Formats: sequence, C-alpha cells, structure tokens
Amino acid sequence: MSDPSVIEPSTRYFRPEAFTADETLSAEEREALRERIRELLRSRDAVLVAHYYTDAELQRLADETGGCVADSLEMARFGAEHPASTLAVAGVRFMGETAKILTPDKRVIMPDLEATCSLDVGCPADAFAAFCDQHPDRTVVVYANTSAAVKARADWVVTSSIAVDVVAYLHQRGEKILWAPDKYLGDYVRRQTGADMLLWDGSCIVHEEFRGLELADLRREHPGAKVLVHPESPAAVVEQADVVGSTSQLIRAVTEMEAETFIVATDAGIFHKMHEAAPGKTLIEAPTAGRSATCRSCAHCPWMAMNGLRSLASALEAGEPQVTVDPDVAAGARRSLNRMLDFAAERARQVLGNGDA
Ligand code: SF4
Repeated sequence: MSDPSVIEPSTRYFRPEAFTADETLSAEEREALRERIRELLRSRDAVLVAHYYTDAELQRLADETGGCVADSLEMARFGAEHPASTLAVAGVRFMGETAKILTPDKRVIMPDLEATCSLDVGCPADAFAAFCDQHPDRTVVVYANTSAAVKARADWVVTSSIAVDVVAYLHQRGEKILWAPDKYLGDYVRRQTGADMLLWDGSCIVHEEFRGLELADLRREHPGAKVLVHPESPAAVVEQADVVGSTSQLIRAVTEMEAETFIVATDAGIFHKMHEAAPGKTLIEAPTAGRSATCRSCAHCPWMAMNGLRSLASALEAGEPQVTVDPDVAAGARRSLNRMLDFAAERARQVLGNGDA
C-alpha cells in the first residue's frame, strides 16, 4: 500500500510496486479478512507480533489488536512477556525461531515458514561450524538474522542496535572476534570499535542494493535532508549518514531530529511507522539502482512480503504452520541470546544509574 508522504527520490529511480502476498484482494475481501483475523486472535488466545518491514496493513492490525510492531529483539521480548498462549509472528523465519527459543512453552505460528532471509540462507550451520573450528582463538559473535543452529554455535548473539556495544566490550577485554553473517554490518562494527574481526561473507539482498554515488546526487537535490542508514548497507552509503542505526533507532531519529526531510536507506516497510510517528515530515527512499543499471531493484524484502492477510488468517485458523526448534539446539541458542539480553539490561541499568536516561 503506497503512502502519500513517501516521495520517489527522482524519476530516474523507478521503484516498481513491491510484490505483496495480498495484491489481488479487493477492498471488501481485505476488510473481511481483517475482521476474521481480529476474531481469531481473540478466540485462539493469540497475539500478533509484526516486524517494521511487513506490510502496513499487518502493522496496523498488530497495533489495533494489542500486539506489537517492532524490531526483531523487541518482538521476541514482547512475545515472551505477553500472556497469550499463541504468538503469531509476521516477519521472517529467524524471528519465529527466536520467539520459540525464548518462549518454548508457547505455540509460535507464522503466515509462511518459507519466508527466510538472505543472511540466514547464506550462513549454513555446517559450513559456519567448520569456519569456527578453524579459528578456535576467536569469540564467535553472530547477528540475530541467523538460524537457531548458528546461534547455538555462537558465544554471543547481537542485534544491530547493540552490536557496537557488545563488540567494544569484548575488544576491551582483549578478545578477537569471529563475526557472521553480514559483512557490511561487521565492517561497520569493526570501524566503530577498532576490534580485530574476521568476517563471514554474507549480505542482505535489500540493503546491499543502496548506492553511494546516487545517494550523493540525491543529497545535492535535497540539501536540507538528513540521511538515515541501516548498517547492513555498503560503506559508501553508511559514510554519508547523519544517523546509522537499527530500525527502532532510525524511527526515533525521524521524531527527534528537527529536519523536515529525511532520506532513508532501509526496507521501505519502515515508512509506515515513520510516517505515523512524524506525520508532517517528508521521507525519501534512498536510491537502489546504479547509474548504469538496466534492471531496477526496490528496497523491499521479498520474504517480508510473503506475510499477508490470507496466510495470517489461515495460520490462525489451523494453528499452523508452527515454528519448531530442536530442544538441544534451542538450549544452545538461548544461552547466547540471553547473554545479549543480560548485557542490554545491565547497560540500561548503568545508563539509568548515570542519570542519562
Ligand atoms: S531485509 Fe534483508 S536482513 Fe531483513 S529479512 Fe530481508 S533479506 Fe533479511
């Protein structure tokens, strides 16, 4: 669903309509499905937990039914603390797995278990374990966008909002890092911390498409605009950012910064929450097509787009597909996830103690 406050960067940058699972539905069918989902959430004792990159319609449903729209870490935290016995996770598979790992007693369902992530797919557990075995002197830190098995092999799991803090802490302790899977985020963390980091060669197919030269052109067209960049983007894009941060941090930047115009380099799904949080501001998609491109990409994750009203309604109806995680794997992954959660809680206590909140 297009948002009138989001403007095209330029006619040079054609953004095709992103595929969404519900694009053939009429307005009446959508409303009927929305009503059915509201009813099923009540009758199945379920709560909807959606990521910022999912369709705006799912985000609105999550908000109006008492669920949550958040980044992957907050989704997992919310699901763990909510009393509902079923978590309906609209996002990609690793998010459902993280919910199941942290709340093994709850039923976790997803609209489509085939919805994955290029970072997860690009870091198979066996190959990753072999890579770790070759470097036993390194502390293994993995991004949340990984399978449960990769998390279980790691010492730490981190999200983009806490990666720099965790690696800086490990670096201060003299530890060398083995990082996976996103090479761009790893490179950003390495430059921020000065840590000795060995990087796995993975990338996000959405953020990798943002282009530095075209972003520089766009900044010249909008000299007052602030540039917000997710650190899964290439260095040539990150270098031009006024704010580099996780999805939650970028949404906060739009509300807290005085600028009226923002160029945003992350999945276009985030514009729904940004517009809601700061309705008067102008949001421009960062360019994704290179100067010599013959085929144009769009900044929208194809796997996030697999979450739709129809598939959510049928998952709630049937109570499946359910996310399952082998209990031994889950125990290992929980250990490295909890290390991050404890670290984040301790950091929050320190900030409060310093009066910096
Ligand atoms: S946007 Fe990128 S990192 Fe996020 S789920 Fe899609 S492929 Fe993975």
